[in-house]
Amino acid sequence: MDGLGPFERYEEKLIRAGLAAAGETLLLGAATPPVVPSAPPHPRQSPAGEGGAPSAPGERGGMIWNRADSLTTTLTNAARRLGRGAILAAIPPEPCRSIVRCLAAAPEGVIRPQDFETRVFLTDLPVWKTGGEEELTTRLERRRAVVAADGMIVATAKRELETAIVIYSAVSFAVFVKFFLDLLPRPGQRRAPDETTAALAAKIRSQLDRPPRGDPPPEATTPLPVGPFATETAIRAAIAATGRRTVATGLVNSSFGNISYRRNDELFITGRGRALDDLEGGIVVVPLGGPAPRDAGASTELPAHRRIVLETPYRAVLHGHPPFCVILSLDCREYDCPARGDCHRFCPRERRIAGHAVVSGEAGGGPHGLDRAVPPAVRETGAAIVHGHGVFTAGREDFRDAFRLLEELETTCRRLFFEKLLNNDGASGAPSGGSATSQPREAATP
Ligand SMILES: [Zn+2]
Ligand SMILES: [Zn+2]
Repeated sequence: MDGLGPFERYEEKLIRAGLAAAGETLLLGAATPPVVPSAPPHPRQSPAGEGGAPSAPGERGGMIWNRADSLTTTLTNAARRLGRGAILAAIPPEPCRSIVRCLAAAPEGVIRPQDFETRVFLTDLPVWKTGGEEELTTRLERRRAVVAADGMIVATAKRELETAIVIYSAVSFAVFVKFFLDLLPRPGQRRAPDETTAALAAKIRSQLDRPPRGDPPPEATTPLPVGPFATETAIRAAIAATGRRTVATGLVNSSFGNISYRRNDELFITGRGRALDDLEGGIVVVPLGGPAPRDAGASTELPAHRRIVLETPYRAVLHGHPPFCVILSLDCREYDCPARGDCHRFCPRERRIAGHAVVSGEAGGGPHGLDRAVPPAVRETGAAIVHGHGVFTAGREDFRDAFRLLEELETTCRRLFFEKLLNNDGASGAPSGGSATSQPREAATP
């Protein structure tokens, strides 16, 4: 259509998504010629452990790169030794670049974020200090990504560039959350951030508060369709429009999140591994009762979506990972919680942010699946904040309320976060409460 090759498509996509910067290092390497990105593979199907087992990419270990660069030999050699068939190495745009530099400068040599993306995809983030092949190979042996002191993120996958892009997105999200979470003081740790860190935080805040230059993209302002939707075409269009708008507004990263809509005994839901802003043709229909064979093609959060539409008055569900919601959800002051350390799976303490319940649970189903905790919270206020993970919001007939709630929640969480920072809230070790939990607000009014 536009005559772009697959590499150019990926570059364009990364830059448009704000994950890479034009004119900066942006290297895409593949052991086999990449195909035009359209239907992505299933990067979420193998959440952990891809790093271990070697397999031979390209017969002689060669790699095709999107451009010539002095780094590609090192990257190619490391990939060959590790059996990785896809690499994305790039310097992200601000503020991510400065955040990576700041975190990578810590003496430990490993960054340990606590969010969902890290738990599922990364474990932790080793710092590649020397720029050398040996060190890179060692650090990537049991990990899918590393970061470098100059701000570069190197993400790898066994085969697919799409998967490397998801890993890269996970890193850029994880470092953002980690950077801001670390700024909040904790008991016994009154240390104020050093000058550089504080200055960087202030700079990022002013960037976040500043309205973007120029007109917003049309996807960010197009009104969402008005429901209820009766036809399959209308449902698919509404889901796709909601995904595009949520990403275009800058609320979430397109690599994570899912959307569903109930029609009678069917659930329309985003397909597994689909980017949130590219859902045309990426929506599957599963029976509401489930489980069913077609479940395999649906988002991993299908169990939660199913239960929300079955157990609440809502039929439109939006799930995404807005960063400040995630940051505040991780800032738990229940220091004596008996589940401390495991609170992302099950936490007996009740917490609220902006009037909405913070719940725990693992992605997908299972004994600690978030499908258990999310529906009651959604029934109560229209939204649930999942500890360290993201937000589920819902609407009765269409996605307008779900979108509005997610947007309001992220705006509120950002404001509450900076209030906490200014107030040095929590440095005294208050057992619970704080500004984030003290402001019950209007529940969803679908
Ligand atoms: Zn999620
Ligand atoms: Zn807890």
